[in-house]
Amino acid sequence: MSLLLQLENVRQRYGGRTVLDVERLEIAPGELLGLTGPNGSGKSTLLRILALLEEPVSGRMLVDGRAADGGGSALRRSVTMLNQEPYLLRRSVFENVAYGLRARGMRGMRGEMEDRVRTALSMVALDHDRFAPRAWRELSGGETQRVALAARLAVHPRVLLLDEPTASLDLPSAQAICAAVLRAREQWGTTVVVISHDPVWLDDLCERQVTMHGGRIAGEGRINVLPGPWITSADTARLDLGDGAHLVAARPPSPGAAACLDPADVELLPGAGGSGPDTGEPNVFTAAISQRVYARSGDSCLRLRIGTLSLWADSTGRECATGVGDTGRSIRIRIQPSAIRWLSGESPS
Ligand code: ADP
Ligand code: MG
Repeated sequence: MSLLLQLENVRQRYGGRTVLDVERLEIAPGELLGLTGPNGSGKSTLLRILALLEEPVSGRMLVDGRAADGGGSALRRSVTMLNQEPYLLRRSVFENVAYGLRARGMRGMRGEMEDRVRTALSMVALDHDRFAPRAWRELSGGETQRVALAARLAVHPRVLLLDEPTASLDLPSAQAICAAVLRAREQWGTTVVVISHDPVWLDDLCERQVTMHGGRIAGEGRINVLPGPWITSADTARLDLGDGAHLVAARPPSPGAAACLDPADVELLPGAGGSGPDTGEPNVFTAAISQRVYARSGDSCLRLRIGTLSLWADSTGRECATGVGDTGRSIRIRIQPSAIRWLSGESPS
């Protein structure tokens, strides 16, 4: 399949510090990609580079297989980004949604412009007749976010980049944004990259997720990042989980390194309940299930709490085998020390 966006060895530096170092990222046309990771892990920087709003200090980005540098205004116009805290023009909702169309030269086509504004507002579940005449200051936070998204949708973008679009929204607004993004993909084949901290919301929307850490891609899917601090000795590293429990891993390549763990590598041990005493076997724990999440793909995941640590465990097709119950119950898990993979580079402070 041909690729729409490709990043190769893309690095960004601010004030002499490398904040982004992406060896490779490939995005197919029409893909819905979720970006997640802790604060400061480089997600917004990556999005701005994809939006052609900033150039990396090194590496290259290809759009349709061609170098994006100097890609010209046509390319720039087909990509649109919604910032984390979008601001509206001090004009009516109609003028805000129509702005991008005017900026792209759609003038003297009043009918088409009105149709596009009406459709874009309805996609974000705002009634055109009620909202179009309103002033920008007569909107709630959720409505402001939805109007800002409608303004991006009105241009029928080829690529839509969303930076934490639901960070401070209530559930109906978050659902409206999710539905609008899915419709954009359906109607125009829009390719979407969206940053979110909300795993449930991201699962509803995206078929693929990438986790970032320290400016790098830690892995595909819902990777557990274990920043530490890890206590290192001659040939092992230990993570204190409280109550005398430790997670044991091989020695890290450098002090201060962070580790990651694939949710598929969290073994759910047979025999539900898990209330018995610890066996003393390394990395066998009793974990409390704090959440169960079903992804659009049909996969399911458990959010587990072991002392001070929260982890995702893949539970696809494993419910019956383990007798895993619902939220609030406990299970036994095992993590092979060799499954804990070290990420290169330091954890951001
Ligand atoms: P995220 O979106 O994952 O929270 P960012 O991409 O915003 O992360 O930031 C990555 C790192 O780059 C952070 O350490 C942040 O402090 C730093 N950073 C971001 N923008 C700038 C900037 N304009 N100048 C200096 N440092 C920046
Ligand atoms: Mg950010």
